[in-house]
Amino acid sequence: MKILSINAGSSSMKFTAYEMPEEKVLISGYIERIGIEGSFYTIKINGEKIKKEIKVVDHKQAFEIIVNELINYKIVETLDEIKAMGHRVVQGGSYFDKSVIVNEDVLKKIEELSPLAPLHNPAAITGIKAAQEVFPNALQVVVFDTSFHQTMKEDKYLYALPYEWKEKYNIRKYGAHGTSHQYVSIRANELLKKQNTKLITCHLGSGASISAVVNGKCIDTSMGLTPNAGLIMGTRCGDIDSTIIPYLMRKGKTIEEIETTMNKQSGFIGISGKYSDARDIMQGCLENDPRAILARDMFVNRVVDYIAKYYFEMNGCDAIIFTAGIGENSFYFREQILNRLSIIGIHLDKEKNEKCIGEEAIISTKNSQIPCYVIPTNEEVMIARDAYNLL
Ligand code: ADP
Repeated sequence: MKILSINAGSSSMKFTAYEMPEEKVLISGYIERIGIEGSFYTIKINGEKIKKEIKVVDHKQAFEIIVNELINYKIVETLDEIKAMGHRVVQGGSYFDKSVIVNEDVLKKIEELSPLAPLHNPAAITGIKAAQEVFPNALQVVVFDTSFHQTMKEDKYLYALPYEWKEKYNIRKYGAHGTSHQYVSIRANELLKKQNTKLITCHLGSGASISAVVNGKCIDTSMGLTPNAGLIMGTRCGDIDSTIIPYLMRKGKTIEEIETTMNKQSGFIGISGKYSDARDIMQGCLENDPRAILARDMFVNRVVDYIAKYYFEMNGCDAIIFTAGIGENSFYFREQILNRLSIIGIHLDKEKNEKCIGEEAIISTKNSQIPCYVIPTNEEVMIARDAYNLL
């Protein structure tokens, strides 16, 4: 059975077509700059990558491109062969603790939650509506980044603000990257050959978060009400003293300026003054750029803080997992982090770590008390699995 997994951003759309339940990738693609000058897309099929330039005016047209390519590459003969589509939605609030089939009520709730994910939720709705038009016979399913974190208990997800604010304004921790944390924890349990485990999963990309996962369930995570909490990221500040905001407002900054700066001009770029990309930070460090070194050290400090916090919160840990752009590819950052954790019995295998770029591997030594793994994430297959199961 053929299933399409969709990840729609405000101006981009990633898709992967699977044969399920085998989870065989038939084709995948990435359409960029939707509705913007210079749009193009890339297709990956049979190990080949093909780039095509074409004007893409909206999400509906993006789906039409997907249809054309599915037929062009003979993935399907007719559209009816796509039995279900799974869409990634960033914010599901407290409404959704698992993936669901799309209906009017579900769309209304995703819309209602848009203020908590203003860039992402509206884009997902546009994507789903366009998919309904172009694929009228496929079951539409939504998979939320927040669902996996809904198992957190109140003492972990509440902020120490007036209790009524949770009821009145929905203020609490929701977390993010849930599909990724869930995927790598399932895979880690397979590698550890047991289900009852305590894991620390580190999703380190340009957005970054860490979760504590006990027996496959999230008990705590570093992101909060929004994805700008916890770790220091490419352009986001993560945890700060909340009083900085009213202080800056009294100094004459507008709320929009502060919000934009905290989301787009902070983190690596804010501290280094030059680089938001971890590769550039690393290069800057190798060239002894003091601000790049400062950005690296602040990032590493924060990651180590969260790992230490979750180690105590779970009363131990069976494995630490690294995933996403930095976690999967940067032996440099992994080494910086793990070298700081020898106090809890972690020993990095320097050679294995340096060899591991973008593939699954164990990167700790045999005598390390906690094994450390790199597990490439696969949010797309999780989306396809949920769509398949709901169908
Ligand atoms: P997102 O999906 O949040 O945009 P990614 O998971 O793609 O982010 O991660 C992007 C980050 O991964 C960037 O900071 C980038 O520098 C880093 N990254 C990607 N490849 C490498 C690499 N080979 N070495 C170091 N960092 C890398």
